[in-house]
Amino acid sequence: MDKSVRNYLKQYDISDATQRFLAKPQKMFINGAWVDSGNGAVFDVIEPSTGGLVTRVPSGTAEDVDRAVEAARRQFDGGAWCRLKPLERERLLHRLADLIEKHGEELAELEAIDMGKSVKFAREIDIQGTMDTFRYFAGWPSKLHGRTVEPSLPGNYLAYTRKEPLGVVAAIVPWNFPLQTMAWKLAAALAVGCTTIVKPAELTSLSTLRFGELVQESGIPDGVVNIVTGRGSVVGAAMSAHRGINKVTFTGSTPVGREVGRTAVGNFKHVTLELGGKSPVLVLDDADLRSAALAVANGVFFNSGQVCDAGTRVYVQKTVYEAFLEELVAVTRTLKIAPGLDPDCFIGPLVSAQQKKVVSSYIEAGQCEGAELIYGGGSLDRPGYFIEPTIFAKCQPEMKIVREEIFGPVLVTSSFEKLDDAVSLANDSAFGLAAAIYSNDLSRVHTLIPRLHAGTVYVNAHSTIDPCMPFGGFKASGFGKDLGPEQLDYLTETKAIWITLP
Ligand code: NAD
Repeated sequence: MDKSVRNYLKQYDISDATQRFLAKPQKMFINGAWVDSGNGAVFDVIEPSTGGLVTRVPSGTAEDVDRAVEAARRQFDGGAWCRLKPLERERLLHRLADLIEKHGEELAELEAIDMGKSVKFAREIDIQGTMDTFRYFAGWPSKLHGRTVEPSLPGNYLAYTRKEPLGVVAAIVPWNFPLQTMAWKLAAALAVGCTTIVKPAELTSLSTLRFGELVQESGIPDGVVNIVTGRGSVVGAAMSAHRGINKVTFTGSTPVGREVGRTAVGNFKHVTLELGGKSPVLVLDDADLRSAALAVANGVFFNSGQVCDAGTRVYVQKTVYEAFLEELVAVTRTLKIAPGLDPDCFIGPLVSAQQKKVVSSYIEAGQCEGAELIYGGGSLDRPGYFIEPTIFAKCQPEMKIVREEIFGPVLVTSSFEKLDDAVSLANDSAFGLAAAIYSNDLSRVHTLIPRLHAGTVYVNAHSTIDPCMPFGGFKASGFGKDLGPEQLDYLTETKAIWITLP
């Protein structure tokens, strides 16, 4: 560990448990054992608020994926896991949720150290969300069932359907909500009786590895949850192509998702793709501008803008455009930029030097294309990967900053006159993850909701996520759903059974 990181952790007085975890050599979790990568390779884990080295993590190989698949297959095809009764699976998932709760502070610290996010939000959003997701899906095993039907064919039949788990599920996870996104994929897969292999993003493996220890402590049999750390182009690609895996559930960027989908479908896997976004926000002239500005700023600057459904394109009705921008700038000014472990941090660093470079290049592109920079735009003169929250006004639909996902704290705004224009602007995007409307006029709101091409529509709110509601995109934002009862259909096969009766 670099001195800069050691001093940083000391300054914020991180827990003994986290210090102990970080001091250990990190290993992958395959078939209940903690192992090195097959070829002994590792990669560096860099702390984003300081830019210093934290530790090293195994860089897995295709052979490591083979070993994880073998273990997961053994459990699925006749192992202890597949013989558990539904209520026994529920008990194990509840036990795992309790362990996540017990070690919540440590997991929140690891998220903040690994990803740079605010430790307060890690606690309140990431870890709370992870726990809630396991608790929600823990209730499902005993409630999964098929249908008994009355056919109209001549003759006498018993006809019914069974819901059966798909098999071995590979979860490929991004770095912006490492543990929570993993939970979205794993909790439902385990609830229906699948076995799993997780690949965390190379930038953020630590909380998932700590989670592996909790899986072991929960009593879930060895081989049901495997964690293979490593490069996307090696471990992720091997998972997409592996014939022993029945489903890939992927969350990440649209270009990588397209590649994963193509490979996985090519060998007849089921696929869920949760991809990028460029979510529109419509502020109508009847909205409460102050509370809309607060919610819009939260909706785009939370997690330093590294949120898939962030409301990054804001369209405001012309008569209130200037007034709304004034409110928005006033709110943005109050957001504290600080290292992730600072208890008051709202905007932490970006996840990596590369991400900072990409986001800065978009800010430059916006200025070159003639958008009006009305707030921020600079990077901070301190160690780590900090960028100011940035707001552009008078943006045009063809600008790069309007069309492409930036994945940083950058907001583009423009005005519209009629609601039809707002709908056209909102839908003029390759993506369709989410949309938001700020208005107090219910009839206008209800008229707009069906016209927006988005998997989620928030009204007078943004990113309200709960495991009881499905989440997933339209268009280039992917297909399939995570969360809600809908997710269970993406993890089960429906078998139709016909029995001739005398
Ligand atoms: P990414 O696509 O670079 O990586 C995602 C995961 O895919 C990582 O684990 C990575 O190692 C792996 N990967 C990379 N190349 C691969 C390959 N060739 N084959 C298989 N796996 C490979 O995305 P990221 O930079 O980690 O995350 C940011 C992106 O994720 C953004 O576009 C964001 O919008 C998206 N995202 C979407 C959602 C959603 O629910 N729709 C949620 C969070 C993030």
